[in-house]
Amino acid sequence: MATSASSKLNKVVKRQYLDLPQGVRVQAMYIWVDGSGEGLRCKTRTLDSEPKSVQDLPEWNFDGSSTYQSEGSNSDMFLVPAAMFRDPFRKDPNKLVLCEVLKYNRQAAESNLRGSCRRVMSRVASEQPWFGMEQEYTLLGTDGHPFGWPSNGFPGPQGPYYCGVGADKAYGRDIVEAHYRACLYAEVQICGTNAEVMPAQWEFQVGPCQGIDMGDHLWVARFILHRVCEDFGVVVSFDPKPISGNWNGAGCHTNFSTKDMRQEGGLKVIEDAIELLAKRHRYHICAYDPKGGLDNARRLTGQHETSNIDQFSAGVANRGASIRIPRAVGQDKKGYFEDRRPAANCDPYSVTEALVRTCLLKEEGEEPVDYS
Ligand code: ADP
Ligand code: MN
Ligand code: MN
Ligand code: MN
Repeated sequence: MATSASSKLNKVVKRQYLDLPQGVRVQAMYIWVDGSGEGLRCKTRTLDSEPKSVQDLPEWNFDGSSTYQSEGSNSDMFLVPAAMFRDPFRKDPNKLVLCEVLKYNRQAAESNLRGSCRRVMSRVASEQPWFGMEQEYTLLGTDGHPFGWPSNGFPGPQGPYYCGVGADKAYGRDIVEAHYRACLYAEVQICGTNAEVMPAQWEFQVGPCQGIDMGDHLWVARFILHRVCEDFGVVVSFDPKPISGNWNGAGCHTNFSTKDMRQEGGLKVIEDAIELLAKRHRYHICAYDPKGGLDNARRLTGQHETSNIDQFSAGVANRGASIRIPRAVGQDKKGYFEDRRPAANCDPYSVTEALVRTCLLKEEGEEPVDYS
């Protein structure tokens, strides 16, 4: 099993230092999305006292030429604090600070999709849009081989692993448990977890979150997962199809509702929204992975509980459709629907913005994309 050298450093020795009183000052770890639109970066600064809200946090900067975010000749980028969480690694009173990235001219960096999402969410705040995202991921060794798989072969075929228990079925549960508690400590809105269909693949769910909170909480939950995996010496992949062939891919199903969908007669509102989504399939595919559909093309084959990337479909309890109405929602005639198309490596700001633009702002039109 390939694990990192850092994970083998003596953790008892480390504990001696982390147990030292830290005095009145506070460590704030600033986190941002890099130029790839998928990678996360972080760096820490000392604050003189504990910040009580995001307004108490100073702006900062970093070298964008080292994060695929700018040319070396004009490389200073601004970090603008956007959301603050408790730090489950350094613990109270230390903080995790999710930031927006602005360029030298204070325009949003290309990979900063938060600003646009925030503006769209503020236009529909009275409709109380709620989201819940199901983040699937795969654990890998440092050699890129799935965690716990035989070093020169494959485990037994899919079937026993989904929600499985036992050493021959659940690969890497320590990481899942550590991540869940760390998210609860951070006050990330995590609402569940389960083992997935492919061994070494897992899922956690975040939600319901209103508006911009969805993206903020999911990005911080992803950061915490990367950081927990680092401690264990393994790697988390959000690739939508990490192993080709007869193995499930990894998605980020996005559940969505508004005040009207959650009330009496809500099923009709859900059906109207699905009609709008049907007319804008390619626009959504374009927004649902960082490469405009290219990554998802490997996953959305119409097999392995996915729909075909070229076809829109919807149905009650249908896990082979683009949009699924959960059975309970069909029975209650109100609730929410699930968009099964987003890839595991999607930007949640882009996904939630697209849903609001189509379903609530009723925007039309397709950006034609070539994801062949
Ligand atoms: P699945 O059956 O598709 O695996 P999960 O239990 O994994 O579903 O995830 C359900 C998701 O739906 C969770 O993220 C939860 O927060 C979200 N959710 C529940 N109710 C609502 C709602 N009314 N609006 C939006 N999202 C919701
Ligand atoms: Mn799920
Ligand atoms: Mn799943
Ligand atoms: Mn789902």
